[in-house]
Amino acid sequence: FFDPQMQAVATANAALAADLRQAWREGQFVVDYQPQVDAGGRMTGVEALLRWNHPQRGRVPPDQFIPTAEETTLILTLGRWVLDQACEQLAQWARRPERAHLSIAVNVSARQFRHPEFVDGVMDAIARSGIEPNKLKLELTETLLADGIDITVAKMGNLKKMGVALSLDDFGMGYSSLSYLKRLPLDQLKIDREFVKDVLTDANDAAIARTIIGLANSLDLEVIAEGVETEAQRDFLLAQGCAAFQGYLFSKPLSLGELEAYADARA
Ligand code: C2E
Ligand code: MG
Ligand code: MG
Repeated sequence: FFDPQMQAVATANAALAADLRQAWREGQFVVDYQPQVDAGGRMTGVEALLRWNHPQRGRVPPDQFIPTAEETTLILTLGRWVLDQACEQLAQWARRPERAHLSIAVNVSARQFRHPEFVDGVMDAIARSGIEPNKLKLELTETLLADGIDITVAKMGNLKKMGVALSLDDFGMGYSSLSYLKRLPLDQLKIDREFVKDVLTDANDAAIARTIIGLANSLDLEVIAEGVETEAQRDFLLAQGCAAFQGYLFSKPLSLGELEAYADARA
C-alpha cells in the first residue's frame, strides 16, 4: 500500500536531514542565550537555545529541525556542540567577577540522554573547560520518564554526583508520574509556557501552575516559569511562590554580544 502523503513526508525529512548535515559542516549553527531572573529581576543565568542560520531561509527555529535531528545521530553532534559552547562560555564568565555567578541551562534531548556515553561526555566537557559543575544545568524532559526509568534515575544520579544541576523542562505537558518524580535527583521544575500563557484567564491553567509550584516547594525543588510575558503573569506566579522567571517580559533570547550588553546594562 503506497501512501503518497507519507512518502512526501519521508522525502521532506530526508532532504532536511541532508540539509542539516551540510549546515553542520558549514558552521551554520549558533547558540542564543535567554536570561533567567530572580524575584528582583536580577539575572541569575541563561538558557542556551540552538539556532540555525540558514543562508537562504534565514533563522530556522529549533522546533523545525530538532525533531529531524533527533531521528538521526546528528542530535548527538549538535547536543555535544551546544554543551561545549555552554561550558566554554561558563569558563570565560568564571574569570570575570561580575559574571561568575551566572549559570547556563542546556537542553538535552531524550535520545542524547539515552546514549551510553552521555554522562562521560558531560564529565569530559566539564573537565576540559575547568568550570564549576554546579553552574551547568541540564534541562531534561518528561519523555525520559516514559520508559527505562531505572537507567534514567541511575544516570541522573551520576550527573548529580558530579555536581551538575538538573531541571525538568516543560513540566506538566508530558508523562508526569508523581511517584517517579520523587525518585529523580532533580534540582528544579520548569513550568511549561503553555500554562503560564493563560494563567490569568484560564482557571485550569492557574490551578495547574499553582499545583506545580506547591509540588516543587513540598519536594524541596526550585521552580522556574518559562514564557513569562507580562508583569501580571509574573506577579501571579510570585504570589504563588515561584521566584524564578524566564520570558519576553525580561528578554528574548539574545546573541552572545547582545547578552553581554544586557548584563552590563543591569550591573
Ligand atoms: P524550551 O527548552 O522549552 O525553550 C523555551 C522556548 O520558549 C524557546 O523557544 C524560547 O525562545 C521560547 N520563549 C522564551 N520566552 C518566551 C516568551 O515569553 N514567549 C514565547 N512565546 N516564547 C518564549 P525556541 O528557542 O524556539 O526553542 C524551542 C525548543 O527547541 C526548546 O524549548 C527546546 O525544546 C528545543 N531546543 C532549543 N535548543 C535546543 C538544544 O540545544 N538541544 C535540544 N535538544 N533542544 C533544543
Ligand atoms: Mg528548555
Ligand atoms: Mg520549556
